[in-house]
Amino acid sequence: MNLLELKDYIQEALNENNLLIEVRLQELMKDTPKIVKDRSKGYDVTFRISFVKDGKYRYKFIVKKPGTKAYNVNFEFLDLDREEKIKKDIKNANERSRYWKKKASEIKDKKKKSEYLKKSKEELDKIEDIYQDYSDDMLDLDVRVSCTCGYFKFWGPDYNARQNDYSLRKMSNLQPPDIRDPNREHNICKHIYAASKVLVDYLKSSKD
Ligand SMILES: [Zn+2]
Repeated sequence: MNLLELKDYIQEALNENNLLIEVRLQELMKDTPKIVKDRSKGYDVTFRISFVKDGKYRYKFIVKKPGTKAYNVNFEFLDLDREEKIKKDIKNANERSRYWKKKASEIKDKKKKSEYLKKSKEELDKIEDIYQDYSDDMLDLDVRVSCTCGYFKFWGPDYNARQNDYSLRKMSNLQPPDIRDPNREHNICKHIYAASKVLVDYLKSSKD
């Protein structure tokens, strides 16, 4: 192997390692050990949603049992294609809104003027629905998760999430959990599982 070939070989190997592994939320839930599922019961879960740039959808949860500490669970769904479509739809709605506004400014007839202004406003109102239009199959999207609890950090989930490409944020020094999770079975913590159930229900109900 000459130097050039070696360079290509290394590049190829790097690309392979960087291949995106798609992990879906419901697959993560399915693979969760029974003991974690059982322990996830009885948690209060509150959440808020934010749409962030680059085709990402972020859901932030606070998970708490009465008398225990609150932990933050975060989910992020990724769909670059969708981001482009949303941008385009928003641009179109804005353009239509401006079109009606301009028409309204050009006409004297009061009735027509208010009719055009109404149309202009309706186009702007549509923008809010655009996000909803594209959130139908969120459960088919690639997901990343994290939790601030100690179990996530030290009992396997942080390490396993990193290895399998569903880590949203590094929470520990990523030391392999050879003693606490030798078989790499602890995929998520009880807080993420509790929040996942709420999130799946929410996503399913918002489809209707
Ligand atoms: Zn947790």
